[in-house]
Amino acid sequence: MKITINGMRCEAKKGQTILNVARANGIYIPTLCYHEKVGAAARCRVCVVEVKGSPGLVTSCSTPVADGMEIYTDTPQVLDAQRFVVKLTLSSGNHDCIVCEKTGSCELQDAAYHLQLEDKDIKTAGRPPQFDDSSAFIRFDPTRCILCGRCVEACNHVVVNRVIKVMGRGYDAHIGFDCNDPMGESSCVQCGECTQICPVGALVSKKSIGKARFPDVKKVRTTCPYCGVGCQLDLHVKDERIVKVTGTENGSPNKGRLCVKGRYGYDFIYAEDRLTVPLIRENDGFREASWDEALDLVADKFREILETDGPDAIAGISCARSTNEDSYQMQKLFRSVLKTNNIDHCART
Ligand code: SF4
Ligand code: SF4
Ligand code: SF4
Repeated sequence: MKITINGMRCEAKKGQTILNVARANGIYIPTLCYHEKVGAAARCRVCVVEVKGSPGLVTSCSTPVADGMEIYTDTPQVLDAQRFVVKLTLSSGNHDCIVCEKTGSCELQDAAYHLQLEDKDIKTAGRPPQFDDSSAFIRFDPTRCILCGRCVEACNHVVVNRVIKVMGRGYDAHIGFDCNDPMGESSCVQCGECTQICPVGALVSKKSIGKARFPDVKKVRTTCPYCGVGCQLDLHVKDERIVKVTGTENGSPNKGRLCVKGRYGYDFIYAEDRLTVPLIRENDGFREASWDEALDLVADKFREILETDGPDAIAGISCARSTNEDSYQMQKLFRSVLKTNNIDHCART
């Protein structure tokens, strides 16, 4: 079907929302509660747009497209409504961007910038930050929370840990963990999914605080070193050091989700006693060697055993920290090259 957005003709498919089509065509509509992983909530009302023939503004995240629809995202009425919502949101919390960890990658800040809000119009609640620092890896500041509900959906329906709820009503509405417990005393398993989906600086990874501003960071995609699931990670690197890890949102198999080890267990790479070169046993001790030398030595030993005792004198155990692909290659080496089926995996025992 064909629709127009701000006069531009756009291709659209049945089932898409106005927001989906706008994003696919590079048209920015501010959003706060929407995230593709948790779907449309139509809660924050910041994504409203005008649709010709519709009596009022509609939420673009939850309105499906129809053939011939004429949509406007930048009329004075739309921008005034969006500004009103963003101003109310900013006013209701403690939004001092200068000292916020999320500055530069905050979706509320992006919306305010896009709408060219002038700060003299905004009276903030003026509350000091109230950090819940009880969790080992996550800091929660309710004064920056905009009650978008993304973390609730993510914890309950994406990682299915069911820790976070919206508690209280009206002005007292707030995010709570289990029975309003401190985060660190709740049943939270510190997977960090909520920090990754929070659009503002309310839920942040403690290990990253003060380590780097957003523009200084380079993202490097890699595979988690901890298990055979092979989750995809984005390493946030500054000055050749990892300052944060996030799950790769569109990467399989994890689609952005990580466990506590994958997200926070990256310090080991800087351990002073970490082995970074192969060691060859010699004279009751070890000496450092090059990879070529070490691999040649292993190949020579294999050859020697094959010649003297045959292939079934060799056995291999693949490591549970290897990726599935590495384990597959190892069994291929044993079965096809060394000609033995003596190959196993340590997680099976
Ligand atoms: S959450 Fe966003 S808007 Fe609020 S202080 Fe932090 S950067 Fe600024
Ligand atoms: S860290 Fe994971 S388990 Fe804990 S509250 Fe966040 S999403 Fe839920
Ligand atoms: S903590 Fe973040 S994700 Fe959760 S409701 Fe508040 S702003 Fe939204």
